[in-house]
Amino acid sequence: MNRVHAARGAFSVTNFGGIAWLARLGHETGHEPSGHKKSHCVSCDSSRTAFASLTPHPCATGWPGQTGLVSDGPRAHSLYRLPSGRQENRSPAGMAQTPLGTLVRPIGGKMKISATLLFVSLLSVLLVAQRPATRPVVHLRTVVDLTHPLNASTPTYEETKEPTYRANTVATFEKDHYFAREICLPEHFGTHLDAPAHFAKGHWTVDQIPPDRLMTRLVVLDETAKVKNDSDYQLSAADITSWEKLHGQIPAKAVVVLRTGWETRWNSAKDYRNPDAKGVMHFPGFGLDAARLLVEGRKVYGLGIDTLSIDYGPSPDFPVHQYSLAHSLYHLENIANLTSVPANGALVVVAPMKLEGGSGAPVRILAIVQ
Ligand SMILES: [Zn+2]
Repeated sequence: MNRVHAARGAFSVTNFGGIAWLARLGHETGHEPSGHKKSHCVSCDSSRTAFASLTPHPCATGWPGQTGLVSDGPRAHSLYRLPSGRQENRSPAGMAQTPLGTLVRPIGGKMKISATLLFVSLLSVLLVAQRPATRPVVHLRTVVDLTHPLNASTPTYEETKEPTYRANTVATFEKDHYFAREICLPEHFGTHLDAPAHFAKGHWTVDQIPPDRLMTRLVVLDETAKVKNDSDYQLSAADITSWEKLHGQIPAKAVVVLRTGWETRWNSAKDYRNPDAKGVMHFPGFGLDAARLLVEGRKVYGLGIDTLSIDYGPSPDFPVHQYSLAHSLYHLENIANLTSVPANGALVVVAPMKLEGGSGAPVRILAIVQ
């Protein structure tokens, strides 16, 4: 099972109830992150009884009150919360050196099990037999920030003479003993979310989007190869079915993101907007047939892209905006770092500013990759 498929298995539950749900990932679904399984469970399988009796094994038991893990940093290590509250970083190598080594003594060329080991083993069998169902240990391998930083150089859809982003310092350490700024920026600026109300009058504004739609599965369609030959490329329904032949059907409620490779132009507003001599912009987007398939055929929650707009650059009338926002989807535009997330299997956390009555808002987008 490769990493992507393993992650898909872990996400096969349908109840996206928040962090508590995240903490249940892994064991409830029978999924064992590959690094964890090799380093710990293999040890358990060979010496579970004695090992578990001396050093509670995170995989076999969990610890009372354990709330799960946030990050394990390098993939070969895992951060565990101990009963006392202190944390310990254990490497697979360290875990492989079980306390059994101190209990098994070579005598006359043969290994003899001590009376202590026998007693401990019997006691452990009783304890294990009475133990309730195992509790999970969460391994959130990587959290990827899919958000560009906001500043005065951020490319915008409309070209303006004056920067639309302003940040004024209103308090300094020297004068006020603290630091604070006030900012002014458009709702649709940088990495941002389009609420349904952006194109569909009376539909959800950004603060009204139900929160359960903001934490869900992430699907990434990579069409960078086609975009290299055609800046005006539009994702088609055929592209979606091709993706599904490789990865399976796009799950309902997912956020589907189109990766075009356009983010490499982010540091040049001119290249990112890519206008021709008449000022018409050229960058890729979603085609209407693709949007129809995703909305009506796959029931997805949102569309995203690494360009200025879900509709391709030359579009005069934004048909995908008109169609999908009227179907209560939201859009994510100017997404970053899509090279760091898999085609399938990641979770996405979409956290826009909760602007009351807003047509959209700057958004922090985080992908959680198992
Ligand atoms: Zn927008």
